[in-house]
Amino acid sequence: MERILTAQTPAKKGETVKVAGWIANRRDHGKIIFLDLRDSTGTLQMVITPEQKETYEKAKDIRSEWVVQAEGKVQERPEGMKNQEIETGSVELSIENIEIFSKAETPPFPIDTQGYEVGEEARLQYRYLDLRRARLKKNLLLRHQVLQFMRNFLSKEGFVEIETPMLTKSTPEGARDFVVPSRLYPGTFYALPQSPQQYKQLLQVAGFERYFQIARCFRDEDPRADRQPEFTQLDLEMSFVEREDVMELTERLLIDIVKTLYPEKKIQDIPFPRVSYKDAVKQHGNDRPDLRKNKEDQNLLAFCWIVDFPFFEKDEKGAWTFTHNPFSSPKREYMQNLMAKKNIGEIIATQYDIVLNGVEIGGGSIRNHNPEALEKVFEIMGYTPEQIQANFGHMLKAFSYGAPPHGGIAWGFDRLISLLQLEPNIREVIAFPKTGDSRDLLMQSPSELAETQLKELHLQFQKRKK
Ligand code: ASP
Repeated sequence: MERILTAQTPAKKGETVKVAGWIANRRDHGKIIFLDLRDSTGTLQMVITPEQKETYEKAKDIRSEWVVQAEGKVQERPEGMKNQEIETGSVELSIENIEIFSKAETPPFPIDTQGYEVGEEARLQYRYLDLRRARLKKNLLLRHQVLQFMRNFLSKEGFVEIETPMLTKSTPEGARDFVVPSRLYPGTFYALPQSPQQYKQLLQVAGFERYFQIARCFRDEDPRADRQPEFTQLDLEMSFVEREDVMELTERLLIDIVKTLYPEKKIQDIPFPRVSYKDAVKQHGNDRPDLRKNKEDQNLLAFCWIVDFPFFEKDEKGAWTFTHNPFSSPKREYMQNLMAKKNIGEIIATQYDIVLNGVEIGGGSIRNHNPEALEKVFEIMGYTPEQIQANFGHMLKAFSYGAPPHGGIAWGFDRLISLLQLEPNIREVIAFPKTGDSRDLLMQSPSELAETQLKELHLQFQKRKK
């Protein structure tokens, strides 16, 4: 007999079926034993009476989280015993045979609750148990459905999904890089990508006019509650486009995701309002305003665009640095200023950020495809010609071989899902997140390397002074 899923049992009343999964709960009611079985689709109540002598004896030992397979008849539950709350609430399985696959230790915390009441360190240390809870299953299922939806949508729009390297080059791009020592080339390092920014632009030079990727990004920043050292972006780039084209596509995709997968939610304003950086700061005190008219309504989504960001700002040492992305183009009317390196603080970038309910969920820009103009950006930031060549020479060279006008955007995918799933932080929608302070409690990383590994990698550590 083929195993069926618990969610399929209501359609099998009167039939003998086989199910398998984990024991979610066990209740002894006098002589009758109730076992709730959990599989990937939900739970099913199973009953055993002493009439099935052998099975009854076996079932006496079974405890929570044991893994079993049971055969029996699906029967309608007596009136008054039906449970409207669960999908299989109208039926139960009268067990005829039960096989035990695995026994289980008592879990360190309850699994049949929402889990918010459990300490997060314990949840992350035993993530494989934490993920058994229905809430997290649902989060990952919806995450998958949104991913699938985006892939289909973009493929239909002519986008090609292309993977770019994880082992790449350290370039000053905003955040600190995670680096990987090279064994073959002593004293040199790869960097993990902060984003696929440069590769996606190189793909435009290569003629892939519409690229996307579900990209993992790595940034070695100081821990913050809602940050992870690695996170996922929906990253895309398009050739021969203006700001409007990228914004239109982004907006359409977001609206379609909500309408299809979250029909219970309401988008406050379509088209999404646009606010200039200046007005946002003036009116809301920040550049990610929460425009919801009713903050009590959990299902209200107030998207907005923030546009017209300054290109440069002064860093703490008083030198010019870019506000978002050094590869952005200034708005056309400021190109002259950039080329002349004049009125630098007034130059406005083509950058656009997308904000949802007060959280920045993405950003992008039209890029500077003219190598001379890109060079000016780095000159303004105080790079010498040698430094420009060493860090960005490959981009300038690529652009000298015929670069199309192009632009794109990247979404913080974990953040978007956490907002849609009404979760308080992104760790709730990531299968194996790190703690808020960047530790993996399940694998116990970061961890030390063996002396032999260090040697192979040509690494030596200075002992910390006590
Ligand atoms: N690469 C940028 C980022 O990660 C997004 C973009 O401009 O496409 O923020």
